[in-house]
Amino acid sequence: MGEVERGAGVEANLGKTRVYNAAGGDAPPGIAALGPDVRRPAEADLLQKLQRLPDLQSAWLLLAYCAAPRAQHLLRNVLSADILPYARAHDAAIWNVVEGPLGGQGPDEGDAWLAARAVAFLPPSFGGLGLLSAERVFAWADALPVLRARYPEVADGIVHELEGELARPCLRAAALAAHRLAEAGWEARPDWDACARGAGSPAVDGELGLGNPGWQRHAVLAPLTSFRERVLLPTLTPAARALLHSQSGPHARMWLAAIPSDVASTLKPDLMHVALRRRLRLPLPLTGRCCGAQGRHGCGAQVDAYGDHHLACPRKGLLPRRGFVVERAWVQVAREAVSPEGRVVPQQWLEHTTAPQVRADDRRRLDFVVYGAMTTGEALCCDATPLTRAGRPVHGADARAGVALDAARRRKVARYPELTRGGPQRLVVLAADVGGWNDQCQQFLRILLRLPVQRAPPPLRASAAQGWARRWWSVLSVALQRAVACSALGVWSMPPLPGAQDALPLGDVLDLASASAPSRLPLH
Ligand SMILES: [Zn+2]
Repeated sequence: MGEVERGAGVEANLGKTRVYNAAGGDAPPGIAALGPDVRRPAEADLLQKLQRLPDLQSAWLLLAYCAAPRAQHLLRNVLSADILPYARAHDAAIWNVVEGPLGGQGPDEGDAWLAARAVAFLPPSFGGLGLLSAERVFAWADALPVLRARYPEVADGIVHELEGELARPCLRAAALAAHRLAEAGWEARPDWDACARGAGSPAVDGELGLGNPGWQRHAVLAPLTSFRERVLLPTLTPAARALLHSQSGPHARMWLAAIPSDVASTLKPDLMHVALRRRLRLPLPLTGRCCGAQGRHGCGAQVDAYGDHHLACPRKGLLPRRGFVVERAWVQVAREAVSPEGRVVPQQWLEHTTAPQVRADDRRRLDFVVYGAMTTGEALCCDATPLTRAGRPVHGADARAGVALDAARRRKVARYPELTRGGPQRLVVLAADVGGWNDQCQQFLRILLRLPVQRAPPPLRASAAQGWARRWWSVLSVALQRAVACSALGVWSMPPLPGAQDALPLGDVLDLASASAPSRLPLH
């Protein structure tokens, strides 16, 4: 270790590195060479324990934030050809932990599970689960500027070789990785010299499964983008394509990162199970063959195995319940935001407000109204609507995201014309389909976010903003998934949730801010 430190100027991180025979001498029995075999037993042990956890949400979080990212250190430091067997075994072991608790493959489900596996290893913003595929990571050049700062002549030599005659195997591997990225259609790749001079990478939103910030993130995204567009999407049915687009939207994934610290952020194992299966487009647990069989409400039509019919059927009576669950989550978020200066009134009759030109017998009711959130004093009149046609693609929804959300907004604007003509109120249409949220949801949340952040002490404001955003998107997307999972089975099984508390201590929220990156805890 001392030699490494003197020779390479690199200090060993003893939290992440296990040292055998620190005093020198032969390797201990069973350790023939360093490599993936040293890590596999510890990994396999963790993965096996995860499969036995009774709570699916906790097992998922430990898998996505602790177990899956453990491969990254090796992937960045070992030649891709050498690490490939380990990477494949790692991916297979991770997938095994997803597949097992979901019940495994049924007969004739092979193709569905192949597609599900492909989706699981996509980043959440691509509609996936955010498990980083070890096999698809390429070693990359974020190390060059660091090297150049310490050993400029070594870095210059590397760049020179990369751009010319390749002799060393590691540089040949780096050049091959760059070539593959070019094949995947990544045109914005900087040349090696620019990398070494520290060319900054364009910012991308941090998200699960993309590895380190910097160029590595872009290098991971490029082949994944190509895979999703050229390989995966063309093989999917229109309904599956629409679902993938819908669940790719901003913050659509937040239920996958929600920490179950209170009721509002918790998904019970059965609902988590259905939510995961729906996101992977796998058949759901058994339900009646006909909509409305055995004396229940329904239209009598034949039901599909993916929950699409139940999510869209207006005769089933589940749509208003679904809407109510999401509306309550919005009310909770608004209350946590405006407390104590403002006021949130749920189920506000329009005729009880001073909205202009509303008749006394008007039967329209807003989901909730928020007073005191805007610096300009406007009241925010909110209508939260999870869309009804979630499973059956709205025209164009299989080709691009957000089509159904735009349509929902147009319908609401037509319903409340008197709230859209300016004045001291503003109509906010909070539309969500099975996964995604419309632009107004994003804007509304940003308005709310200003309120508690301003109340926090100045040095804590950045963390408070991060923590509140994570908290509220978790609450909202857990509520949406809960409502969708419940109605997808055609039987409403959700117990009533306890009333929302008005305030959350800042300390709890700051915890969330620091928990938004993968665990950096030492292995042992
Ligand atoms: Zn029906």
